[in-house]
Amino acid sequence: MKYLDEFRDPGLAKRLLEEIQRTATRAWTIMEVCGGQTHGLLRHGIDDALRGVVELLHGPGCPVCVTAAESIDQAIELSLRAEVRLATFGDMLRVPGTGESLLMARRRGARVQLVYSPLDAVALAREDPDREVVFLAVGFETTAPATALAVEQAASLGLSNFSVLMAHVRVEPAMAAIAAAAGCRVDGFLAAGHVCTITGYEVYRDFVERYGRPVVVTGFEPVDLLQGILHSVQLLERGQAEVVNAYGRSVAAAGNAAAQGILQRVFRVADRPWRGLGWMPAGGLLLREEFRAWDAVDKFGLSSLDGVEAAEATGCRSGEVMSGRLRPSDCPHFGTGCTPESPLGAPMVSGEGACNAYYRYASVELERSQKSAGGR
Ligand code: SF4
Repeated sequence: MKYLDEFRDPGLAKRLLEEIQRTATRAWTIMEVCGGQTHGLLRHGIDDALRGVVELLHGPGCPVCVTAAESIDQAIELSLRAEVRLATFGDMLRVPGTGESLLMARRRGARVQLVYSPLDAVALAREDPDREVVFLAVGFETTAPATALAVEQAASLGLSNFSVLMAHVRVEPAMAAIAAAAGCRVDGFLAAGHVCTITGYEVYRDFVERYGRPVVVTGFEPVDLLQGILHSVQLLERGQAEVVNAYGRSVAAAGNAAAQGILQRVFRVADRPWRGLGWMPAGGLLLREEFRAWDAVDKFGLSSLDGVEAAEATGCRSGEVMSGRLRPSDCPHFGTGCTPESPLGAPMVSGEGACNAYYRYASVELERSQKSAGGR
């Protein structure tokens, strides 16, 4: 492997790599579903090391990338209202809406406040009772419990100047949509370890039965990724569609009961538009009726997202990238019309996006080869 010396345990990494190479009798196609895993695979050259043995496809596991452009539009609309301060994570700033981004809106007077957690947004609302604080709630099951906690806290405090613009998404429906699509090339999935710490892995039993593809719960360290790939290849070689937990140090079969409890108390499952991928049945979370007072869409009379296309900007092919049908480097805009400095689509903006990873680690590779040429 190219960068073996960067591994915490290079000996183990080498053994796992060799085991994968020995086990695979054909080039299996495996999709990692988490953007953090995509970056780990590319950062450490695992995709290159397995070329011809395993083809790695990159799934829709970047929360910024899948947030519908129309949700960004809603956030911009709110942030431009005199009474509102919009609280959001820093990586949402540069994501394009259907027109501009929150950063562009901020340049023309929008009040956008960066926060590190939803509870920071609750604190902002408590500090400034004369202003409405709206938290743009994005992310998968991993971040949703913190949003639920913020809503419960606001409810228990009777905080009427806090609300949430819901854009949370659920992973499994997106995997199901990819597996069910005509011509799906994915032989097996690496499930996102951090999501499974919340959901557990039993939730994938139905999935593997229905779609006949193995799911291996996988972590983020390079050795975790190699172990996840090895388990997948072993299952595929045996023709077994099963769920395997290769991230046992963090994930239990039933997941985190406390986190699931708060999710169930505060949210309900709902259909949701996914950027570039369209409407996803059961693909999102909305506030339950009893927490409606903290729903920014209701509170500010925003238009519903029902029926929106959730398309990417003209020319961006993020939907194909996030469903594994197009490698980022095969997009005609990659590195020319679309770069991290001047992104056309969300997967180039986000630090977890596949296009950003390809761009960033292609540059790392170039630096390394220049350094090693200089050292010779
Ligand atoms: S390279 Fe840019 S334009 Fe192409 S799919 Fe990725 S984000 Fe979209």
